[in-house]
Amino acid sequence: MNEIKHVDSVFRLLKQEITKYDRPIVSRSKWDVIVNTPFTTLISCILSLRTKDEVTEQASIRLLKNYNTPEKLVKLSEKQIVSLIYPVGFYKTKAKTIKEISKTIIDIYEGQVPDKFDELLKLKGVGRKTANIVMVYGHKKHGYLPIDTHCHRIPNRLGWIKTKSPEETEITLKKNLPEDYWNDFNHLVVTFGQKICVPVSPLCSKCPIESYCEKISVKNSR
Ligand code: SF4
Repeated sequence: MNEIKHVDSVFRLLKQEITKYDRPIVSRSKWDVIVNTPFTTLISCILSLRTKDEVTEQASIRLLKNYNTPEKLVKLSEKQIVSLIYPVGFYKTKAKTIKEISKTIIDIYEGQVPDKFDELLKLKGVGRKTANIVMVYGHKKHGYLPIDTHCHRIPNRLGWIKTKSPEETEITLKKNLPEDYWNDFNHLVVTFGQKICVPVSPLCSKCPIESYCEKISVKNSR
C-alpha cells in the first residue's frame, strides 16, 4: 500500500529549504548568459548524466554559449565538442551523441526539439528521465514526472512508496501523488537529495522534514 502522507507540508518545507541552494542546471530557466530552450535543456541533460552538477554547468556554458541551436552545434566536429565539454563523464560518447541528436533534429524535426514524449525517446541517448526533463523544463508541459536516483530514493525513505527502480517509482508516484505536485517534484527533490538527504549518511539532524520521515532503510545518519 503506497500512502503519500503530509505532502503539502513536505513540499512547503522543501521549497523553503532549497532557497538556500542553486537549482540543478537542467531545471533552471536561465544560466549565465544562456536562456534555456528545449534544445539547451536537452543537451545539458545529456551532459549531466553521471556528472556532478558544477561540472555539467561549466561544460554546458562553454558549449551552449556560442552553439545553442542544432544548426550551430552540428557544424562542430566531435573533437571540438569534446574540447568544450571535457571533463563531463563519458565525454567522447556524449560528443558523438550530441552531434547525432543535432543532426536528427535538423533532418527529421525541422530544427525543433520534438514536444512529444515518445518522439523524444527516439533520439539517441535519450531515456525516460531525459525525455521527462525536456517535457517539464524545456517545453514547460504538465503531466510529466522526471525521476532520477534522488527522486527514487527519497520517497522510499519517507515511506511514501516501496519501489525497486526509478521506472517503478515514476509509475507509482503518478498513481499516488496529486498532479499539482509533479512539476516541482524533480528540482525540489534533486536539490534536497544533493544537499541534505544524500545517498550515504543523510543529514537527518538538519532535515526540515524529519518529523514526516519514516527513514526506511536508513542505517546511518548525521
Ligand atoms: S529525515 Fe533523514 S532520511 Fe528522512 S528525508 Fe530527512 S534527511 Fe532524508
